[in-house]
Amino acid sequence: MIYLDHASTTPLLPEVISVVNDVLTESWGNPSSSHANGRKAKAVVETARKTFATDFGVTPGEIFFTSGATESIFLGLQSAILDGCDFIITAATEHKAVLDSVDFLAQKHQIKKLVLAVNNKGQISMTELENAIKAHPGKTLVALMYVNNETGLIHPVKSIGQIVGKYDGLFFCDAVQAALFQDITPRDLGIHYLSLSAHKFNGPKGVGLLFVARETGKHSLWKGGSQERKMRPGTENVYGIAGMAKAWRSNFDSRMEKRNLMADLKSIAIKALNSIPGLEINAEDGAPHILHFSFPSAKKAEQLLMALDIEGVMLSAGSACQSGSHQVSHVIEAMNKPGNQIHLRMSFGFGNTKDQVLSACQTLVRLVS
Ligand code: PLP
Repeated sequence: MIYLDHASTTPLLPEVISVVNDVLTESWGNPSSSHANGRKAKAVVETARKTFATDFGVTPGEIFFTSGATESIFLGLQSAILDGCDFIITAATEHKAVLDSVDFLAQKHQIKKLVLAVNNKGQISMTELENAIKAHPGKTLVALMYVNNETGLIHPVKSIGQIVGKYDGLFFCDAVQAALFQDITPRDLGIHYLSLSAHKFNGPKGVGLLFVARETGKHSLWKGGSQERKMRPGTENVYGIAGMAKAWRSNFDSRMEKRNLMADLKSIAIKALNSIPGLEINAEDGAPHILHFSFPSAKKAEQLLMALDIEGVMLSAGSACQSGSHQVSHVIEAMNKPGNQIHLRMSFGFGNTKDQVLSACQTLVRLVS
């Protein structure tokens, strides 16, 4: 079996499983209890918080644990609106977790929204972004992702942060696909809110975090308790949080080496797929772990994916929420790709080898010819 769908989810690292097991057996107390058992669990959560704060160059009080990126995204966007933003700018290629939240929140709070169009590479126009913020008299919230989960395209996050800062707006960045390889230094990048999800970097599912810059107001998702300084009430997922911190640390320490390995796998795949007639590589210089490509085909993507699956090769046509559906994704639609093409995503992760990637590409080439 060759798993090349790491942008959907990643396997747990052995050391993460071991930490999760330790916490489940030894630190199972309620972090809100004041007795020794509770304090032990609380220490696990606070150690994890410090780990992220140190590596992001922020303070522990700016890190909030959640159930994953979808929740972090809604929590951050809503908090920014409750903090005074009355205009949201996003882009057509954002993850649905952002687009659907923006739709809902704009309607609920009766505020204006602008969904930026992208060119055929998936890039936004920085001039259009700046002009839109400049023209708005109030406070603008800009919600743009770091790395696109389908194409791997990297947004110029630092420049976006500078523009948002120039007009005193707030910048929300969905950094889920950037966790493994890009710099996550929100303060240097001018980011006020940033979301991550543990299962995209070899951690457990159902746990994530939100960075919220200290200069912004904190507005909770719901009411019901004082956990996470009332931003996210509810007993903490202690073993998930510990597993997420372990996964982060394991990857963080060797990120340059892993980044180079992923880049090698990506270039091997590009060469190996080259014989597919009409092959187009999208966002070639994007994230090293994502290879997105298009080619004309009489077959449907679903047929090819099924044939690959039968041969033990797992990849995808786009985001996980699109798999199984027979529609072209909203990202591809926004990029205005020709209708006769199919679009596939190979995404690499730790454990993948050059031989695996070559073998998967050869299988694909055989199936399309
Ligand atoms: N944002 C991006 C870019 C993603 O790739 C994903 C996962 O598919 C999400 C948000 C949602 O993350 P989660 O599964 O933690 O809710």
